[in-house]
Amino acid sequence: MDPLYIKVHPSDNVAIVVNSDGLPAGTAFPDGFRLIERIPQAHKVALAEIEPGGPVVRYGQVIGTANRLVAPGGWVREDVMDLPAAPALGQLELATRTPAPLPPLEGYTFDGYVNPDGSVGTRNLLGIATTVQCVAPTVDYAVRRIQTELLPRFPNVDGAVAVTHSYGCGVAIDAPGAAVPIATLGHIGRHPNFGGAPLIVSLGCEKLQPVRLFPELRVITDGPPVLRLQDQRGFAETVSAILEYAEKRLAELNRRQRRPVPASGLNVGVQCGGSDAFSGVTCNPAVGYLADLLVRAGATIMFSEVTEVRDAVHLLAPRATTEQVALDLIREMRWYDEYLERGSADRSANPTPGNKRGGLSNVVEKALGSVAKAGTSALMAVAGHGERVTAKGLVFAATPASDFICGTQQLASMNVHVFTTGEGSPYGLSMVPVVKVSSRTALAEKWPDLIDIDAGKIATGQASIENIGWELFRFILDTASGRRKTWAEHWGLGNALAPFNPGPVT
Ligand code: CA
Repeated sequence: MDPLYIKVHPSDNVAIVVNSDGLPAGTAFPDGFRLIERIPQAHKVALAEIEPGGPVVRYGQVIGTANRLVAPGGWVREDVMDLPAAPALGQLELATRTPAPLPPLEGYTFDGYVNPDGSVGTRNLLGIATTVQCVAPTVDYAVRRIQTELLPRFPNVDGAVAVTHSYGCGVAIDAPGAAVPIATLGHIGRHPNFGGAPLIVSLGCEKLQPVRLFPELRVITDGPPVLRLQDQRGFAETVSAILEYAEKRLAELNRRQRRPVPASGLNVGVQCGGSDAFSGVTCNPAVGYLADLLVRAGATIMFSEVTEVRDAVHLLAPRATTEQVALDLIREMRWYDEYLERGSADRSANPTPGNKRGGLSNVVEKALGSVAKAGTSALMAVAGHGERVTAKGLVFAATPASDFICGTQQLASMNVHVFTTGEGSPYGLSMVPVVKVSSRTALAEKWPDLIDIDAGKIATGQASIENIGWELFRFILDTASGRRKTWAEHWGLGNALAPFNPGPVT
């Protein structure tokens, strides 16, 4: 492959090296530009001289300030740049540049499971919700028996999933922060893929009592059964009782049928994990194109990860549909600033060693690449931590950036998940299909049985952002319909749920 670099925006004074082994000092590009030192793949090269104190510009935005002279052709590493201040939250433009509605995209459907409340499932799963970690191994044991002994008799049911977690007791259950994990676990329990209702297994003495997790239990008399382990006699009988409940529910679930529904029934949560400097030019813009297609089709697309949006908030607040939505976005940014401050941390704690190895120097560069996932449409709504998203269009759902916490929080609302990765992660969730998109072809080739879509072809010019965006859209319709499985589903990869708990542990 010929030496190749990518400059994203005309005003950028850095570009990233595309070639998979990096390029040595002295490399000349077709335009005559030369490297003066070796630059690894995905790392930045100075296109012009950057003076000490001068801005380093990528995506047309200042991502840092040079702390020494960088000559043209030199390597712009993390240690030659200082982190700029985050955009001040009090001085943002609110809904001043709301994009016009995109042209509708009609006629796209998928085969889903429509629930009585109108929500649409993409899988047909027996869900077992739990109130506390104490019961998790017992429920996991029962689920293994359900899978081998019961499921073969119910061919319309895709699987059985235990909603286990580390929450439920030993926590300040009345503290304001407790509302977040409790709401999240409640929404996950009522997930559309569970037909809107789980079986519930409780211990008995825990702080998170079933009615607190599912307040509707107060009024529903023939609702989902609650099995209290401390009422049972011994382990074997307890497991038999869970299996008996499961069998009844499986008979109901087995009658669910897929039927064609408009693509507007999709709620797609997107996040990135193990990002590199390509993420912002390949997979994330392709997901942004997908986001616009979903918006045009009337669906919901959620992006999250507060610390990766914080440094791009000045680009998003003007895109809000109303001033109130922009203020809601700022409220979530401010909440997180204060949350980090209480923990004596700040946003600079975000990039990981892997991010940096992948060429991402700091959180500003990571954020500018990350928000490309949000496409170009108007920001229609903002959801707080743990809130279930019901709005259509582009929605910011506040979550931490941590992959498994973000995934768990988005699970409260989404029926398909898209995960972009540069360094690579075998991440998956057991309740919804997780479509993994690589930022580089080298990763897709190294992990052909984990990566579903290779967006790296965008960097080498073999595919356009539009091509990969459409490929993703069609892949999602097929996957949501059960016509194809993601690699994570094929291997049964489901990361442990990790609800966000900003409240105190006692
Ligand atoms: Ca993430």
